[in-house]
Amino acid sequence: MIPPDRWRRVVLKMSGEALASPASDETIDASVVRRVSKEIAASRADLGTELAIVVGGGNIWRGTTGAGEGMDRATSDTMGMLATVINALALQDALEREGQPTRVLTAIEMAEVAEPYIRRRAIRHLEKGRVVILAAGMGNPYFTTDTPAALRAAEIEADILLKGTHSGVDGVYSADPMLDSEAVRYDEISFMDVVSRDLRVMDLTAITFCKDNKLPILVFDLMKEGNIALALAGREIGTLIR
Ligand code: UDP
Repeated sequence: MIPPDRWRRVVLKMSGEALASPASDETIDASVVRRVSKEIAASRADLGTELAIVVGGGNIWRGTTGAGEGMDRATSDTMGMLATVINALALQDALEREGQPTRVLTAIEMAEVAEPYIRRRAIRHLEKGRVVILAAGMGNPYFTTDTPAALRAAEIEADILLKGTHSGVDGVYSADPMLDSEAVRYDEISFMDVVSRDLRVMDLTAITFCKDNKLPILVFDLMKEGNIALALAGREIGTLIR
């Protein structure tokens, strides 16, 4: 399962909150974005892995926030999708300043800002060594970015979906490690066990999609220095779900 040297093509799912600052109330912390981008650019250059990033928007807006206040759910979700575009542009800027060519592709058309998501175009960019940042989720409300991350990974025939965490939890645990000191981390777990034990690592829709399409998921701590390179290289960190 784990490749001898590296993955060929991957999708990295990053939450919007990974770009925010734990230390301040900044929505997007430039120093955090710079650090993550530096690591992504350096490991991509070393390994040559084709990399697409699906970025979330939770640091700015989540559909459920507005819906909880009585807002129309579809409108609120659209705001969430637009939030992911803001994060994608921040990431693009930082990656390019590290010398890594990128393209932002959006699932909601906004030609003045970014290219539309077209599967074959995304693959072409990857083949040319560009990091593809996929924004605006799937373009449809009622989803979170976990599901488009899984969908795009299948569409572009990625080897694996890398789900980077940012909350200090470095994989899948038997219970919530923040609440239960007895919780143990799995090195590997099946899709079935994640679902039947209700281990909330990703949205259930995304998990079942990956199961149906035989797409493995690596859950790992995105914020720990050096982990992006290890994840791209297919090293045994975090938890592999397959
Ligand atoms: N969203 C959506 N459709 C999609 C992807 C995202 O409607 O295909 C909306 C949804 O409201 C979600 C918000 O965009 O809450 C931001 O994405 P997400 O919550 O996944 O961000 P993250 O938690 O990963 O930062």
